[in-house]
Amino acid sequence: MRLVLLGPPGAGKGTQALRLVQRHGIVQLSTGDMLRAAVAAGTPVGLKAKAVMESGGLVSDEIVIGIIAERLDQPDARKGFILDGFPRTVAQADALDRLLTDKGLKLDAVIELKVDQAKLLDRILNRAAEAKAKGEPVRKDDDPEVFKTRLEAYNRDTAVVAPYYSARGQLQQIDGMAPIEKVTQAIDSILETA
Ligand code: AMP
Repeated sequence: MRLVLLGPPGAGKGTQALRLVQRHGIVQLSTGDMLRAAVAAGTPVGLKAKAVMESGGLVSDEIVIGIIAERLDQPDARKGFILDGFPRTVAQADALDRLLTDKGLKLDAVIELKVDQAKLLDRILNRAAEAKAKGEPVRKDDDPEVFKTRLEAYNRDTAVVAPYYSARGQLQQIDGMAPIEKVTQAIDSILETA
């Protein structure tokens, strides 16, 4: 199964992706996680991405597409994957399309988590508080000011990705404000018919 999860930062893509990984035994490909790992390891990609990520902007299409192209070639991605946080621009969506076509593959579903953006800041602040309480590191970009920039980047560059898939008849939308388990059920019922 090959799936794309769309939605603004804080919509619950990561939470749902983890649940899908557990249920379906496929891998979660989160470009945010890959970039954070590159930053932590101090790789050339990490060095380029660090400041942009900390400011809440988008890392260049070239870098992100390169990371995904490499990742899709790894053996664990063959059984299927959930893309979380990619594609974030139409150029990335086009690149994904080419990458999959070259491999003779296609997406089984593109699911958008629809959320009330006015409620997202609270969710992000909760995520930061929960991480802190568990003694886990708090993401630097889960700061209210940086979050505003991330949401602006979403509305400027990423909001057009859902209509891109809708125009191709591939988009399914679900209520991302529902409780976590309900959202998972909604995704599962889409996947049953995919
Ligand atoms: P995320 O964990 O998905 O919220 O991503 C954290 C940050 O990584 C974003 O705010 C961007 O700076 C960067 N990032 C992650 N995925 C992408 C992408 N597909 N395109 C551009 N930048 C990305």
